Amino acid sequence: MILLNLLNNTKMKRLVFLALIFTCNLVISQIKSQKMDYKKYTDEDWKKILTEDQFHILREEGTEYPGSSKYNDFWESGTYVCVACETPLYLSENKFDAHCGWPSFDAGIDKNIDLGVDYKIGYARTELRCKTCGGHLGHVFDDGPTKTGKRHCLNGLALKFIPNKK
Ligand SMILES: [Zn+2]
Repeated sequence: MILLNLLNNTKMKRLVFLALIFTCNLVISQIKSQKMDYKKYTDEDWKKILTEDQFHILREEGTEYPGSSKYNDFWESGTYVCVACETPLYLSENKFDAHCGWPSFDAGIDKNIDLGVDYKIGYARTELRCKTCGGHLGHVFDDGPTKTGKRHCLNGLALKFIPNKK
């Protein structure tokens, strides 16, 4: 009888232990999936990740001062990713000097970029947004000098440069 009780106890303990592990895993995977769901992020969530200036650009559709970006006169080869969620957005081979004061590209990685329209300065401009996190990136204009005819005018603060592996 005592032996049977012990056996039952061990079985119970094992069951409780397994249930605990299962619950833990469930909670962890829930936290992970919530973390990736950027569309649910509140302003407070973003403020923990972004600097004040980055927040102003990405979440309040701000524009950085012309000529202020470290990427204006920057010609390394690599990929420009979203500073908030690291989604690849632009390749260095599409970068050109538009002399407009902002980092400019003649094309982006289209599948990762959403286009919108804003009337912030009185007329319609095509806005660029990161498809993954919805962050505002800049605008695209039809006056590009290359064969694409496009000028993606970016806020450098919305981007992070990842160099190509040598
Ligand atoms: Zn993003």
